[in-house]
Amino acid sequence: RAKKASRGNVTLWRDGMTLSGIERLALESRLAQAVDRGEMLLHYQPQVGLEDRSDPTTVKLVGFEALARWNHQQLGLIPPDTFIPMAEDSGLIVPLGQWVMREAFGQAARWQHVVAGLGVSVNLSGRQLGQKNLIDQIKELLVESNANPEQMDLEITESDLLQQDEAKVKDVLYKIKDMGLQLSVDDFGMGYTNFGRLAKLPVDRIKIDKSFVTHICESTADEAVVRAMVDISRTLGMKVVAEGVETQAQFEKLTQMGCDIIQGYLFGKPLAAADVPRLLTAR
Ligand code: C2E
Ligand code: MG
Ligand code: MG
Ligand code: MG
Repeated sequence: RAKKASRGNVTLWRDGMTLSGIERLALESRLAQAVDRGEMLLHYQPQVGLEDRSDPTTVKLVGFEALARWNHQQLGLIPPDTFIPMAEDSGLIVPLGQWVMREAFGQAARWQHVVAGLGVSVNLSGRQLGQKNLIDQIKELLVESNANPEQMDLEITESDLLQQDEAKVKDVLYKIKDMGLQLSVDDFGMGYTNFGRLAKLPVDRIKIDKSFVTHICESTADEAVVRAMVDISRTLGMKVVAEGVETQAQFEKLTQMGCDIIQGYLFGKPLAAADVPRLLTAR
């Protein structure tokens, strides 16, 4: 049973909390109303690159990843690792994912006025890839928001890409590319990496999962694996993003290896939208 930790008058969601069947059902039905109740929000995590690859002091902001947050009225902030799988199982990810894109595209258009070329990445789940009207939906949201499609990036996990029918995935990805958007392979290295299949897909970037980055400075095996991922990706003409970068040493090692973009607590945790403009002007 889920135990709720009360601090003052706020009841908090705790990591690792397990849910009974009934509690899960209650949370799921509440999730269906989260957008309408205004409980859903996006946080934005900075992504940086180097102006001069050989000089680690030339860091510049290149974009943000939009990350969904559920601020449940009674439970407080519930992490996406809990509610996204719920939304995927129930099919709610389709309307929720549409809300995420609308919100992120709208924000991106406003920020792109301040910083030309600023990218915004949105996570897209496998369920959405299989959605019949996805392409029309994206088209509509681009028109509605006036965001520059070239600066919008859709992240799809490697396992979601490879688990689906190859021909269908290829078709959807090419349609997304035709609209001008960027495509990233998220959580790269976590699934059954199949370079042969990935090489045939029109993807622009791969995102090396945090689990490979964490021990890159202590483990020569991890270092070798990341180096191989970077080399192959670059050979295939893809940019490389490293996630979960927390130390300056990791940052320097990754950029020396040829990583183009770095994302991690070292340069900032995900921020509320209201806190982003300060970063845009303080560059
Ligand atoms: P992800 O897309 O791989 O996002 C990166 C996760 O790593 C984020 O967790 C981010 O806060 C965390 N992270 C980034 N840098 C660091 C670091 O230096 N240290 C540590 N410890 N963590 C770091 P978050 O926000 O909890 O999101 C978890 C996952 O939930 C995401 O992983 C993504 O798979 C999913 N997710 C979040 N928002 C959405 C959404 O709108 N749609 C879909 N389909 N999935 C989403
Ligand atoms: Mg992601
Ligand atoms: Mg990831
Ligand atoms: Mg993930």
